[in-house]
Amino acid sequence: MKKPEADLFIPDGMAEAEALARTTHLGIGAHQDDLEFMAAAAILECHRKREWKFGGITVTDGRGSARAGPYQDFDDEEMRRIRRQEQRKAAVVGDYAFMAQLDYASREVKRADREDLVADLEELLRKSRPRVVLTHQPADKHDTHIGVLLGVLAALRRLPAAERPEKLYGCEVWRGLDWLPDEDKTVFPIRGSENLLAALMGVFDSQIAGGKGYDKATAGRKLANATYFASHAVDDAPMLEIALDLTPLMHDPDLSPASFIDGYIDRFRADVADRLQRLGS
Ligand SMILES: [Zn+2]
Repeated sequence: MKKPEADLFIPDGMAEAEALARTTHLGIGAHQDDLEFMAAAAILECHRKREWKFGGITVTDGRGSARAGPYQDFDDEEMRRIRRQEQRKAAVVGDYAFMAQLDYASREVKRADREDLVADLEELLRKSRPRVVLTHQPADKHDTHIGVLLGVLAALRRLPAAERPEKLYGCEVWRGLDWLPDEDKTVFPIRGSENLLAALMGVFDSQIAGGKGYDKATAGRKLANATYFASHAVDDAPMLEIALDLTPLMHDPDLSPASFIDGYIDRFRADVADRLQRLGS
């Protein structure tokens, strides 16, 4: 990892190479807490299954975090330290294979030249060889999230096809995916494990007590996703995460994320227009 103070944490203390290589599902998020909010289903499923293991990468340093309430007097350096500790705690609760915090400033992620970040991601992907990668989705409205998605795509495209994961998914944080036609959604049900889910989200006290009810909002989105999803196949799951399958973007270097997501927006537009027309407007 390029940053001198990047943090590689292995909750159970296993040797690095072995710890990374056991990863089956790799989450890559911009900020501390993004993984737990957007990829909880994968984290909980990996916690349950002995043969699966979740690995986490958080790209930014936490310096610019919002702060209020008990944290309002903390400076950037204190927030960075607290957020790093919170992310480590989540890795313990979720029994992650490893947790890498790359320590980039947001502005470094948002600029078009993010070569160091891409190199870090490529290195961790080569060492962990996950089957599934989960990251931000291309219609997210947070610039840093989009910067991370573009970095992940660049790193995955550098890998030989045989070393790429089977699946790449884009997940919901700063914009849901409810607008996608149901047939375009990939859904990950969350059944049981309410205690673990609450613990995973609850460790991010500096953000939640610091003025944003992310835990309630995130649980509420997953509840609403389950209720308003049309298929009966997942009716027994009280919570659903919606993801967009980004695998074609990983394999086709000529396919831009903008034209990829445009196809889905076109289908959404056609779905709305067709229904109105059909019903006589
Ligand atoms: Zn974020």
